[in-house]
Amino acid sequence: MRFWIGMLFWAGVCFGEIVRYEPLSLDVWYQGRFYHAFRLLEESSAQSYLAFDHQTLQAQKIPLQEAKIAPGAALEDSLYKKMMREAYKPPRLLANDGLKSFGGESHYLSVDLCPSRHKGFEERLWTLLEARQKAFPVIVCVSGRWMDSHKEEWAALIQKERQGSLEILWCNHTYDHFYEKNLPLERNFLRHESQNLSKEVLQLEKRWLKEGILPSPFFRFPGLISSPSLMQELQKLGLIPLGAQAWMAKGEIPQKGGIILLHGNLNEPLGIDLFERFLEENQGAHFGGVKEMQN
Ligand SMILES: [Zn+2]
Repeated sequence: MRFWIGMLFWAGVCFGEIVRYEPLSLDVWYQGRFYHAFRLLEESSAQSYLAFDHQTLQAQKIPLQEAKIAPGAALEDSLYKKMMREAYKPPRLLANDGLKSFGGESHYLSVDLCPSRHKGFEERLWTLLEARQKAFPVIVCVSGRWMDSHKEEWAALIQKERQGSLEILWCNHTYDHFYEKNLPLERNFLRHESQNLSKEVLQLEKRWLKEGILPSPFFRFPGLISSPSLMQELQKLGLIPLGAQAWMAKGEIPQKGGIILLHGNLNEPLGIDLFERFLEENQGAHFGGVKEMQN
């Protein structure tokens, strides 16, 4: 318990009991910077916006009375708005819709933590990344059910981020990550009739906030499976869907600017093998984070 309280203060973010949590879409000005407010948050004592910095994508909690409404037009070229436009460009796809590349010369690594019966996680992947460079930038797409059944691994990952050995952007991969192996893709994952995208997204965000974790604007559809109406709903939630340029376990080859997809839950060791080989054969390959996305 003392450990967790320490972690919350360490992050400099403290959240009380959440009594109200709703999507909204509003550009605001706060302490000399433009933010996109995407949630209204009410805790026992106060109301605030949860907002992304338009240029750094960093999430921030902003007291309602301290935010000034910003003119939208001036922000059309911000990193956040540009990514939103790019990610939702038609045509709509059943599989792998959304952003697959950030452009430029760097590679971008994303690691999914879908629910898994495997104990532990890909320790050798984190070791590889930490050996390759300090604060290796990685987008970690987390599902709530994985967190629930991997408490130690989840805490270890947060620790790596806070110690600076990994530079993690937390990406929402839904709470439940519904999947039924006998169903066709058209009726599987979030397309299943039992599923509610908004509920899944907000439930995971609230869980993160309670633990002092702030989300990035990134979202990954479970199985990379979406639909036109799911994309529309996600857009209203203010999140950027990430596809994959190179799903390693499927033998796809990483290109510069592209988003690489690995599974960190021990479900796809082949992907880690192939990624390790890619690193060995491409010693000069550079991996980017938000700083590189801005260029
Ligand atoms: Zn998944």
